[in-house]
Amino acid sequence: MSDSSSASPVGPVPAPPSTPVPHPDPHPLPLLSDVYPALVSFLASKLAAEDEPALAQGVARLRFHGWCTCSRTCAYLRTAPADRADNSWIHLDDGDTPLVWLQLDREHTSFAGMEICAFELGPAPALDPRRPARA
Ligand SMILES: [Zn+2]
Repeated sequence: MSDSSSASPVGPVPAPPSTPVPHPDPHPLPLLSDVYPALVSFLASKLAAEDEPALAQGVARLRFHGWCTCSRTCAYLRTAPADRADNSWIHLDDGDTPLVWLQLDREHTSFAGMEICAFELGPAPALDPRRPARA
């Protein structure tokens, strides 16, 4: 006995089970604002007060490239490859006390890195396991 009349029409072919493709991340380095949010908000407000609004807005996009390895206690933090750095600095000081000195990149549109002076970074976060010892 045939039952072909009740065969249902072929519906839309269900999509094959999709293998989740990891989103290709062109920036494997963490944002500096994820590693040191207090530092980034400090820089943004200080730079805005120094009449550097473009640089102030740019700090939120800086990536953490790790610390300078010239010595065990070097407090220079990279936010770009070393060859991006220009010999031009913005000093953020509290009176006579240097807090953070920022090194501009070659285009002077962003920063290649910064020397963390008296600014208190707080405890080393998990995103920065290789932080140098403070001198
Ligand atoms: Zn160094």
